[in-house]
Amino acid sequence: MEEIPQSHPRYQSLVLRKKISEAHKAGILAESGMIAHGRGEAFDYLLGEKTTPPARKAIKAAAAQILLAKNPVISVNGNTVALSAREVVELSHKSGAKVEINLFYRTPERVDKIEKILCEEGADEVLGTNNEEYLHLNGLEGPRSHVSARGIYSADVVLVPLEDGDRAQALFDSGKIVITIDLNPLSRTARSSSITIVDNLVRALPLLIQEVEKLKGEEMYKLEEMLSDFNNPENLNDSLQAILRNYHRGVKP
Ligand code: ATP
Repeated sequence: MEEIPQSHPRYQSLVLRKKISEAHKAGILAESGMIAHGRGEAFDYLLGEKTTPPARKAIKAAAAQILLAKNPVISVNGNTVALSAREVVELSHKSGAKVEINLFYRTPERVDKIEKILCEEGADEVLGTNNEEYLHLNGLEGPRSHVSARGIYSADVVLVPLEDGDRAQALFDSGKIVITIDLNPLSRTARSSSITIVDNLVRALPLLIQEVEKLKGEEMYKLEEMLSDFNNPENLNDSLQAILRNYHRGVKP
């Protein structure tokens, strides 16, 4: 593929697109992952391709929630690895969260490739690999329901960037606190999660890492206070308002 000139007005967006299409060619990402990326791009455009104030608020709450967790797990799929493998590993190191591969279109080859990338980025341990016995997550069928016993199955808090609605709902229904990063504030995932960060994964993860570092030494009651100040439906509404403001700005005659 041709080099993208840095002067291109859509440089950042094109760089991400290139990473996604290369990951597909390398067998890391299923075709539907590219479509999911396209849906995200459209919402990112409407958000002004910036982290909004409500997203910052959700990132703070997410950091507090991860630090309060007993067994936090980061669920990783093809899109997440294609765009942010390094940040996933860094977040895992800084927060103590485990990393688990969890794919919608799971094949042993894709799982091996994703495991290799995470290990190359320095992951201490990767769960959800081909060498593991799986348990079944209620509310789902087929390979999508397979989770690691030491990972998602026993997790109290799960960070699921770019999840599909059924699985986010199944995780929530099984009593877990679900944190998601999803550019679409209207998706079923966004609406069924405990904390939704309406932002691009590539902007949200570095900010989440920073926030975890900042809050690491805080007293538990302070973190709990931060969480009780957070209201997900309200925050989703604020993200929608941000989109509407951009929209109205753009349609001035
Ligand atoms: P749901 O089932 O939750 O209603 P969906 O069917 O739209 O959602 P998918 O197509 O499975 O979900 O997943 C794509 C979701 O991920 C979309 O909501 C899209 O906005 C979001 N998304 C795509 N790329 C990114 C990204 N880089 N950062 C954050 N979110 C993203």
